[in-house]
Amino acid sequence: MRLTNIPKVTPSGLKINQSRLWETLHETCKWGASHRWGKETHETGMARLTLSDNDARVRRWFADEVQKLGCAVSVDQMGNMFARLKGKRNSSRPMIAMGSHLDTQPRGGRYDGILGVVGALEVLRTMKENGFRTHDDVGIVNWTNEEGARFPKSMCSSGVWAGAIPTEDAWNLRDIHDQNVTLKSELERHGYLGEIPCSHEAYPLGAHFELHIEQGPILQDAGRSIGVVSGAQGYRWLNFTVTGQDAHTGTTPFSARRDPLLAASKMVVASNAVAKRYGALASTGILKIPDNSSTNTVVSEVTFTLDIRHPEDEVVKTVQDECLKSFADIAQEDGKGVSFDWRIDTDSPAVKFYKDCITSIQTSAEGLVGARGWMDITSGAGHDSVYTSRHCPTAMIFVPCRDGVSHHPTEYCTPEACALGTQTLLESVVHYDQSLAAKQG
Ligand SMILES: [Zn+2]
Repeated sequence: MRLTNIPKVTPSGLKINQSRLWETLHETCKWGASHRWGKETHETGMARLTLSDNDARVRRWFADEVQKLGCAVSVDQMGNMFARLKGKRNSSRPMIAMGSHLDTQPRGGRYDGILGVVGALEVLRTMKENGFRTHDDVGIVNWTNEEGARFPKSMCSSGVWAGAIPTEDAWNLRDIHDQNVTLKSELERHGYLGEIPCSHEAYPLGAHFELHIEQGPILQDAGRSIGVVSGAQGYRWLNFTVTGQDAHTGTTPFSARRDPLLAASKMVVASNAVAKRYGALASTGILKIPDNSSTNTVVSEVTFTLDIRHPEDEVVKTVQDECLKSFADIAQEDGKGVSFDWRIDTDSPAVKFYKDCITSIQTSAEGLVGARGWMDITSGAGHDSVYTSRHCPTAMIFVPCRDGVSHHPTEYCTPEACALGTQTLLESVVHYDQSLAAKQG
Protein backbone atom coordinates (compact mmCIF):
# COMPACT_ATOMS: atom_id res chain seq x y z
CA MET A 1 0.00 0.00 0.00
CA ARG A 2 1.20 3.48 -0.83
CA LEU A 3 2.32 5.41 2.25
CA THR A 4 1.70 9.12 2.17
CA ASN A 5 2.97 11.36 4.89
CA ILE A 6 1.34 14.66 5.70
CA PRO A 7 3.15 17.55 3.97
CA LYS A 8 5.22 19.85 6.17
CA VAL A 9 3.07 22.84 5.36
CA THR A 10 -0.67 22.19 5.28
CA PRO A 11 -3.35 24.49 3.80
CA SER A 12 -4.74 25.31 7.27
CA GLY A 13 -1.30 25.79 8.76
CA LEU A 14 -2.26 23.15 11.34
CA LYS A 15 -0.83 19.67 11.51
CA ILE A 16 -2.38 16.81 13.41
CA ASN A 17 -0.16 14.70 15.64
CA GLN A 18 0.20 11.28 14.01
CA SER A 19 1.66 9.44 17.01
CA ARG A 20 -0.86 10.93 19.45
CA LEU A 21 -3.67 9.88 17.12
CA TRP A 22 -2.30 6.34 16.80
CA GLU A 23 -1.70 5.96 20.53
CA THR A 24 -5.09 7.37 21.47
CA LEU A 25 -6.89 5.14 18.99
CA HIS A 26 -5.28 2.00 20.37
CA GLU A 27 -5.53 3.18 23.97
CA THR A 28 -9.32 3.30 23.58
CA CYS A 29 -9.30 -0.22 22.17
CA LYS A 30 -8.33 -1.64 25.57
CA TRP A 31 -12.08 -1.47 26.15
CA GLY A 32 -13.27 -4.35 24.02
CA ALA A 33 -10.01 -5.75 22.56
CA SER A 34 -10.35 -9.41 21.55
CA HIS A 35 -9.50 -11.95 18.82
CA ARG A 36 -5.71 -11.52 18.89
CA TRP A 37 -4.05 -12.12 15.48
CA GLY A 38 -0.50 -10.81 15.95
CA LYS A 39 2.15 -10.13 18.57
CA GLU A 40 1.98 -6.33 18.70
CA THR A 41 -0.29 -4.76 21.31
CA HIS A 42 -2.58 -3.37 18.61
CA GLU A 43 -2.80 -6.64 16.69
CA THR A 44 -6.20 -7.70 17.96
CA GLY A 45 -9.74 -7.18 16.81
CA MET A 46 -12.57 -5.67 18.81
CA ALA A 47 -15.81 -6.81 20.41
CA ARG A 48 -17.29 -3.60 21.76
CA LEU A 49 -20.98 -4.06 21.26
CA THR A 50 -23.13 -1.00 21.67
CA LEU A 51 -24.10 -0.13 25.26
CA SER A 52 -22.03 -2.96 26.70
CA ASP A 53 -19.91 -2.19 29.78
CA ASN A 54 -16.90 -1.55 27.54
CA ASP A 55 -18.90 0.81 25.34
CA ALA A 56 -19.98 2.68 28.48
CA ARG A 57 -16.30 2.96 29.53
CA VAL A 58 -15.16 4.37 26.20
CA ARG A 59 -18.10 6.80 26.25
CA ARG A 60 -17.05 8.13 29.66
CA TRP A 61 -13.46 8.43 28.45
CA PHE A 62 -14.67 10.32 25.36
CA ALA A 63 -16.76 12.75 27.45
CA ASP A 64 -13.76 13.44 29.73
CA GLU A 65 -11.40 14.08 26.82
CA VAL A 66 -13.68 16.50 24.99
CA GLN A 67 -14.50 18.33 28.22
CA LYS A 68 -10.77 18.83 28.80
CA LEU A 69 -10.77 20.72 25.48
CA GLY A 70 -13.63 22.94 26.62
CA CYS A 71 -16.43 21.17 24.79
CA ALA A 72 -19.98 21.07 26.09
CA VAL A 73 -21.35 17.51 25.96
CA SER A 74 -25.03 16.82 25.27
CA VAL A 75 -26.67 13.40 25.21
CA ASP A 76 -29.99 12.75 23.50
CA GLN A 77 -32.66 10.12 24.15
CA MET A 78 -30.82 7.58 22.01
CA GLY A 79 -27.54 8.13 23.85
CA ASN A 80 -26.00 9.97 20.89
CA MET A 81 -23.20 12.12 22.28
CA PHE A 82 -22.65 15.64 20.92
CA ALA A 83 -19.41 17.39 21.92
CA ARG A 84 -19.44 21.06 20.97
CA LEU A 85 -16.70 23.65 20.89
CA LYS A 86 -17.70 27.31 20.61
CA GLY A 87 -16.65 29.14 17.46
CA LYS A 88 -15.29 32.67 17.47
CA ARG A 89 -18.48 34.15 16.04
CA ASN A 90 -20.42 33.06 19.08
CA SER A 91 -23.35 32.37 16.75
CA SER A 92 -26.32 30.20 17.57
CA ARG A 93 -26.04 28.32 14.28
CA PRO A 94 -25.84 24.51 14.53
CA MET A 95 -22.33 23.12 14.82
CA ILE A 96 -20.24 21.69 12.00
CA ALA A 97 -20.00 18.09 13.16
CA MET A 98 -17.49 15.32 12.65
CA GLY A 99 -19.31 12.10 13.42
CA SER A 100 -18.97 8.35 13.47
CA HIS A 101 -19.35 5.52 16.00
CA LEU A 102 -17.42 3.86 18.82
CA ASP A 103 -19.35 0.58 18.81
CA THR A 104 -18.07 -2.43 16.85
CA GLN A 105 -19.15 -5.78 15.49
CA PRO A 106 -18.65 -8.82 17.79
CA ARG A 107 -15.72 -9.87 15.57
CA GLY A 108 -14.85 -6.41 14.37
CA GLY A 109 -11.70 -4.37 13.94
CA ARG A 110 -10.07 -1.35 15.53
CA TYR A 111 -10.76 1.23 12.80
CA ASP A 112 -14.36 0.94 11.57
CA GLY A 113 -16.12 3.89 13.22
CA ILE A 114 -13.46 4.32 15.90
CA LEU A 115 -11.11 6.15 13.52
CA GLY A 116 -13.88 8.64 12.70
CA VAL A 117 -14.46 9.58 16.34
CA VAL A 118 -10.85 9.45 17.56
CA GLY A 119 -9.71 11.30 14.41
CA ALA A 120 -12.28 14.01 15.15
CA LEU A 121 -10.93 14.26 18.70
CA GLU A 122 -7.41 14.67 17.28
CA VAL A 123 -8.74 17.49 15.06
CA LEU A 124 -10.11 19.35 18.09
CA ARG A 125 -6.93 18.70 20.09
CA THR A 126 -4.85 20.12 17.25
CA MET A 127 -7.05 23.21 16.95
CA LYS A 128 -7.00 23.75 20.69
CA GLU A 129 -3.24 23.48 21.19
CA ASN A 130 -2.67 25.91 18.33
CA GLY A 131 -5.22 28.39 19.61
CA PHE A 132 -7.13 27.93 16.34
CA ARG A 133 -10.84 28.71 16.38
CA THR A 134 -13.43 28.08 13.70
CA HIS A 135 -16.03 30.75 12.90
CA ASP A 136 -19.00 28.50 13.64
CA ASP A 137 -19.21 25.98 16.47
CA VAL A 138 -17.49 22.73 15.64
CA GLY A 139 -17.82 19.36 17.32
CA ILE A 140 -18.05 15.60 17.37
CA VAL A 141 -20.94 13.13 17.33
CA ASN A 142 -20.67 9.59 18.66
CA TRP A 143 -23.71 7.85 17.17
CA THR A 144 -25.23 4.99 19.22
CA ASN A 145 -25.63 1.50 17.75
CA GLU A 146 -24.35 2.16 14.26
CA GLU A 147 -23.46 -1.51 13.81
CA GLY A 148 -26.82 -2.97 14.77
CA ALA A 149 -24.97 -6.09 15.91
CA ARG A 150 -26.44 -6.32 19.42
CA PHE A 151 -29.72 -4.48 18.86
CA PRO A 152 -30.53 -5.46 15.28
CA LYS A 153 -30.94 -2.23 13.37
CA SER A 154 -27.91 -0.68 11.74
CA MET A 155 -27.36 3.11 11.63
CA CYS A 156 -29.99 2.99 14.32
CA SER A 157 -29.67 6.28 16.14
CA SER A 158 -28.72 8.50 13.21
CA GLY A 159 -31.86 6.95 11.69
CA VAL A 160 -33.90 8.12 14.68
CA TRP A 161 -32.23 11.54 14.53
CA ALA A 162 -33.19 11.78 10.85
CA GLY A 163 -36.81 10.85 11.59
CA ALA A 164 -36.58 7.60 9.61
CA ILE A 165 -36.96 5.34 12.66
CA PRO A 166 -39.42 6.11 15.51
CA THR A 167 -37.66 6.51 18.90
CA GLU A 168 -40.01 3.95 20.49
CA ASP A 169 -39.13 1.32 17.89
CA ALA A 170 -35.43 1.83 18.50
CA TRP A 171 -35.86 1.81 22.29
CA ASN A 172 -37.73 -1.49 22.07
CA LEU A 173 -35.03 -3.31 20.11
CA ARG A 174 -34.01 -6.41 22.04
CA ASP A 175 -30.53 -7.74 22.69
CA ILE A 176 -30.15 -10.66 20.26
CA HIS A 177 -28.71 -12.80 23.08
CA ASP A 178 -31.08 -11.74 25.89
CA GLN A 179 -34.68 -10.91 25.08
CA ASN A 180 -35.16 -9.30 28.52
CA VAL A 181 -32.72 -6.52 27.70
CA THR A 182 -33.79 -3.65 25.49
CA LEU A 183 -31.79 -0.81 24.02
CA LYS A 184 -33.66 1.56 26.33
CA SER A 185 -32.95 -0.49 29.47
CA GLU A 186 -29.25 -0.44 28.59
CA LEU A 187 -29.32 3.32 27.99
CA GLU A 188 -30.84 3.67 31.48
CA ARG A 189 -28.40 1.26 33.12
CA HIS A 190 -25.39 3.21 31.86
CA GLY A 191 -26.88 6.68 32.40
CA TYR A 192 -27.05 7.46 28.68
CA LEU A 193 -30.78 8.05 28.32
CA GLY A 194 -30.44 11.79 27.75
CA GLU A 195 -33.18 14.36 27.97
CA ILE A 196 -32.91 15.95 24.55
CA PRO A 197 -35.30 14.29 22.07
CA CYS A 198 -33.32 12.43 19.41
CA SER A 199 -34.14 14.47 16.31
CA HIS A 200 -32.66 16.79 13.77
CA GLU A 201 -35.03 19.44 15.07
CA ALA A 202 -34.06 19.19 18.74
CA TYR A 203 -30.32 18.98 17.99
CA PRO A 204 -29.72 20.22 14.43
CA LEU A 205 -26.33 19.94 12.78
CA GLY A 206 -24.81 22.53 10.46
CA ALA A 207 -22.89 19.87 8.55
CA HIS A 208 -21.65 16.30 9.03
CA PHE A 209 -18.19 15.13 7.96
CA GLU A 210 -17.33 11.48 8.52
CA LEU A 211 -13.89 9.94 8.23
CA HIS A 212 -14.09 6.17 7.75
CA ILE A 213 -12.03 3.28 6.46
CA GLU A 214 -13.16 2.28 2.98
CA GLN A 215 -14.01 -1.33 3.92
CA GLY A 216 -13.32 -2.34 0.34
CA PRO A 217 -10.27 -2.70 -1.94
CA ILE A 218 -10.87 0.11 -4.46
CA LEU A 219 -8.46 2.74 -3.05
CA GLN A 220 -5.73 0.20 -2.39
CA ASP A 221 -6.04 -1.26 -5.90
CA ALA A 222 -6.01 2.21 -7.46
CA GLY A 223 -3.01 3.27 -5.35
CA ARG A 224 -4.89 6.27 -3.97
CA SER A 225 -4.68 7.40 -0.37
CA ILE A 226 -7.91 9.42 -0.02
CA GLY A 227 -11.41 8.67 -1.25
CA VAL A 228 -13.79 11.60 -1.56
CA VAL A 229 -17.15 9.94 -1.06
CA SER A 230 -19.81 11.46 -3.28
CA GLY A 231 -22.67 9.30 -2.02
CA ALA A 232 -23.85 5.83 -1.21
CA GLN A 233 -25.16 3.40 -3.79
CA GLY A 234 -28.80 2.49 -4.04
CA TYR A 235 -29.94 -1.07 -3.45
CA ARG A 236 -32.97 -3.29 -3.75
CA TRP A 237 -33.56 -6.59 -2.05
CA LEU A 238 -35.88 -8.92 -3.97
CA ASN A 239 -37.25 -12.25 -2.86
CA PHE A 240 -38.18 -14.96 -5.38
CA THR A 241 -40.23 -18.12 -5.01
CA VAL A 242 -39.85 -20.61 -7.85
CA THR A 243 -42.44 -23.37 -7.95
CA GLY A 244 -42.21 -26.71 -9.74
CA GLN A 245 -43.29 -30.24 -8.99
CA ASP A 246 -41.72 -33.06 -6.94
CA ALA A 247 -40.75 -35.96 -9.19
CA HIS A 248 -38.78 -39.19 -9.07
CA THR A 249 -35.28 -38.55 -10.43
CA GLY A 250 -35.01 -42.02 -11.94
CA THR A 251 -38.33 -42.35 -13.71
CA THR A 252 -39.02 -38.75 -14.80
CA PRO A 253 -37.28 -37.75 -18.05
CA PHE A 254 -35.97 -34.16 -18.28
CA SER A 255 -38.73 -33.35 -20.74
CA ALA A 256 -41.41 -34.16 -18.16
CA ARG A 257 -39.94 -32.25 -15.22
CA ARG A 258 -40.72 -28.95 -13.53
CA ASP A 259 -37.45 -28.42 -11.69
CA PRO A 260 -37.34 -25.15 -9.68
CA LEU A 261 -33.81 -25.70 -8.38
CA LEU A 262 -32.41 -25.98 -11.89
CA ALA A 263 -34.32 -22.84 -12.88
CA ALA A 264 -33.28 -20.90 -9.76
CA SER A 265 -29.65 -21.81 -10.36
CA LYS A 266 -29.85 -20.48 -13.91
CA MET A 267 -31.56 -17.33 -12.61
CA VAL A 268 -28.70 -16.66 -10.17
CA VAL A 269 -26.20 -17.09 -13.00
CA ALA A 270 -28.27 -14.85 -15.28
CA SER A 271 -28.51 -12.08 -12.65
CA ASN A 272 -24.73 -12.06 -12.42
CA ALA A 273 -24.43 -11.60 -16.19
CA VAL A 274 -27.03 -8.82 -16.25
CA ALA A 275 -25.35 -6.95 -13.39
CA LYS A 276 -21.96 -7.22 -15.09
CA ARG A 277 -23.42 -5.78 -18.28
CA TYR A 278 -24.50 -2.64 -16.38
CA GLY A 279 -21.50 -2.32 -14.04
CA ALA A 280 -23.82 -3.08 -11.14
CA LEU A 281 -23.73 -5.73 -8.38
CA ALA A 282 -26.21 -8.59 -7.98
CA SER A 283 -25.87 -11.18 -5.25
CA THR A 284 -27.83 -14.10 -3.90
CA GLY A 285 -27.22 -14.55 -0.18
CA ILE A 286 -30.05 -16.93 0.67
CA LEU A 287 -31.26 -19.91 -1.33
CA LYS A 288 -33.66 -22.30 0.35
CA ILE A 289 -35.12 -25.64 -0.59
CA PRO A 290 -37.64 -27.55 1.56
CA ASP A 291 -36.16 -29.29 4.66
CA ASN A 292 -37.53 -32.63 3.54
CA SER A 293 -35.75 -32.59 0.17
CA SER A 294 -34.14 -35.83 -0.87
CA THR A 295 -31.41 -37.00 -3.24
CA ASN A 296 -33.69 -38.86 -5.59
CA THR A 297 -36.51 -36.33 -5.80
CA VAL A 298 -36.80 -33.15 -7.85
CA VAL A 299 -37.71 -30.43 -5.34
CA SER A 300 -41.05 -28.70 -5.37
CA GLU A 301 -40.08 -25.16 -4.48
CA VAL A 302 -37.07 -22.86 -4.14
CA THR A 303 -36.85 -19.40 -2.61
CA PHE A 304 -33.90 -17.10 -3.12
CA THR A 305 -32.90 -13.50 -2.50
CA LEU A 306 -31.43 -11.04 -4.95
CA ASP A 307 -29.55 -7.94 -3.77
CA ILE A 308 -28.98 -5.42 -6.59
CA ARG A 309 -26.74 -2.35 -6.11
CA HIS A 310 -25.55 0.63 -8.13
CA PRO A 311 -24.88 4.34 -7.46
CA GLU A 312 -27.73 5.27 -9.86
CA ASP A 313 -31.30 4.30 -8.96
CA GLU A 314 -32.20 3.99 -12.66
CA VAL A 315 -29.52 1.36 -13.20
CA VAL A 316 -30.78 -0.62 -10.19
CA LYS A 317 -34.24 -0.55 -11.75
CA THR A 318 -32.93 -1.54 -15.19
CA VAL A 319 -30.99 -4.47 -13.77
CA GLN A 320 -34.13 -5.60 -11.97
CA ASP A 321 -36.20 -5.36 -15.17
CA GLU A 322 -33.60 -7.22 -17.22
CA CYS A 323 -33.36 -9.94 -14.58
CA LEU A 324 -37.12 -10.39 -14.56
CA LYS A 325 -37.17 -10.67 -18.35
CA SER A 326 -34.47 -13.31 -18.43
CA PHE A 327 -36.01 -15.18 -15.47
CA ALA A 328 -39.28 -15.40 -17.43
CA ASP A 329 -37.39 -17.05 -20.31
CA ILE A 330 -35.52 -19.38 -17.98
CA ALA A 331 -38.80 -20.48 -16.39
CA GLN A 332 -39.88 -21.89 -19.79
CA GLU A 333 -36.58 -23.42 -20.83
CA ASP A 334 -36.52 -26.87 -19.26
CA GLY A 335 -39.08 -29.65 -19.30
CA LYS A 336 -42.60 -28.46 -18.61
CA GLY A 337 -41.38 -25.20 -17.09
CA VAL A 338 -41.75 -23.62 -13.65
CA SER A 339 -43.58 -20.59 -12.31
CA PHE A 340 -42.20 -17.85 -10.12
CA ASP A 341 -43.39 -15.03 -7.86
CA TRP A 342 -41.37 -12.18 -6.52
CA ARG A 343 -41.60 -9.24 -4.16
CA ILE A 344 -39.45 -6.28 -3.11
CA ASP A 345 -38.35 -6.49 0.54
CA THR A 346 -36.21 -3.35 0.68
CA ASP A 347 -35.79 -0.40 -1.64
CA SER A 348 -33.07 1.97 -0.53
CA PRO A 349 -32.49 4.78 -3.02
CA ALA A 350 -28.99 6.02 -3.79
CA VAL A 351 -27.73 8.88 -1.65
CA LYS A 352 -25.96 11.90 -3.08
CA PHE A 353 -23.84 13.82 -0.62
CA TYR A 354 -23.79 17.62 -0.51
CA LYS A 355 -21.84 19.43 -3.19
CA ASP A 356 -20.21 22.05 -0.97
CA CYS A 357 -19.00 19.43 1.53
CA ILE A 358 -17.60 17.33 -1.32
CA THR A 359 -15.84 20.41 -2.71
CA SER A 360 -14.26 21.08 0.70
CA ILE A 361 -12.94 17.52 0.87
CA GLN A 362 -11.72 17.54 -2.75
CA THR A 363 -9.91 20.84 -2.21
CA SER A 364 -8.32 19.51 0.99
CA ALA A 365 -7.26 16.23 -0.61
CA GLU A 366 -5.81 18.08 -3.59
CA GLY A 367 -3.78 20.27 -1.25
CA LEU A 368 -2.47 17.33 0.75
CA VAL A 369 -1.76 14.62 -1.83
CA GLY A 370 -2.18 16.24 -5.25
CA ALA A 371 -4.48 15.14 -8.07
CA ARG A 372 -3.03 11.63 -8.31
CA GLY A 373 -3.36 10.89 -4.61
CA TRP A 374 -7.14 10.96 -4.29
CA MET A 375 -10.22 9.83 -6.19
CA ASP A 376 -13.98 10.16 -6.07
CA ILE A 377 -15.67 7.05 -4.75
CA THR A 378 -19.17 5.81 -3.89
CA SER A 379 -19.77 4.10 -0.58
CA GLY A 380 -20.75 0.46 -0.91
CA ALA A 381 -21.92 0.26 2.70
CA GLY A 382 -24.38 2.22 4.82
CA HIS A 383 -23.08 4.81 7.29
CA ASP A 384 -24.54 7.32 9.74
CA SER A 385 -23.80 9.95 7.08
CA VAL A 386 -26.47 8.40 4.85
CA TYR A 387 -29.06 9.49 7.42
CA THR A 388 -27.50 12.84 8.36
CA SER A 389 -27.45 13.76 4.67
CA ARG A 390 -31.25 13.92 4.78
CA HIS A 391 -31.12 16.94 7.08
CA CYS A 392 -27.72 18.59 6.86
CA PRO A 393 -24.90 19.05 4.35
CA THR A 394 -22.90 15.83 4.55
CA ALA A 395 -19.95 14.07 2.93
CA MET A 396 -17.42 11.40 3.82
CA ILE A 397 -13.69 10.77 3.60
CA PHE A 398 -12.43 7.24 2.99
CA VAL A 399 -8.94 5.95 3.71
CA PRO A 400 -7.70 2.58 2.47
CA CYS A 401 -7.67 -0.42 4.78
CA ARG A 402 -5.48 -3.45 4.18
CA ASP A 403 -6.88 -5.62 1.37
CA GLY A 404 -10.28 -4.02 1.95
CA VAL A 405 -10.86 -6.28 4.95
CA SER A 406 -13.36 -4.98 7.51
CA HIS A 407 -15.87 -6.39 10.02
CA HIS A 408 -13.06 -8.78 10.87
CA PRO A 409 -10.42 -8.77 13.64
CA THR A 410 -7.54 -8.35 11.18
CA GLU A 411 -8.96 -5.10 9.80
CA TYR A 412 -5.96 -2.74 9.54
CA CYS A 413 -5.28 0.84 8.56
CA THR A 414 -1.67 2.11 8.65
CA PRO A 415 -0.69 4.94 11.04
CA GLU A 416 0.07 7.07 7.95
CA ALA A 417 -3.36 6.44 6.42
CA CYS A 418 -5.12 7.18 9.74
CA ALA A 419 -3.15 10.42 10.03
CA LEU A 420 -3.71 11.51 6.45
CA GLY A 421 -7.45 10.87 6.77
CA THR A 422 -7.53 12.88 9.98
CA GLN A 423 -5.58 15.75 8.42
CA THR A 424 -8.05 15.70 5.51
CA LEU A 425 -10.91 15.82 7.99
CA LEU A 426 -9.37 18.84 9.68
CA GLU A 427 -8.72 20.67 6.40
CA SER A 428 -12.22 19.91 5.12
CA VAL A 429 -13.92 21.26 8.23
CA VAL A 430 -11.74 24.39 8.20
CA HIS A 431 -12.37 24.90 4.47
CA TYR A 432 -16.12 24.42 4.87
CA ASP A 433 -16.26 26.76 7.87
CA GLN A 434 -14.29 29.43 6.01
CA SER A 435 -16.44 29.17 2.87
CA LEU A 436 -19.54 29.49 5.03
CA ALA A 437 -18.13 32.53 6.80
CA ALA A 438 -17.12 34.10 3.46
CA LYS A 439 -20.64 33.58 2.09
CA GLN A 440 -22.22 35.14 5.13
CA GLY A 441 -19.76 38.03 5.13
ZN1 LIG B 1 -18.61 2.05 10.50
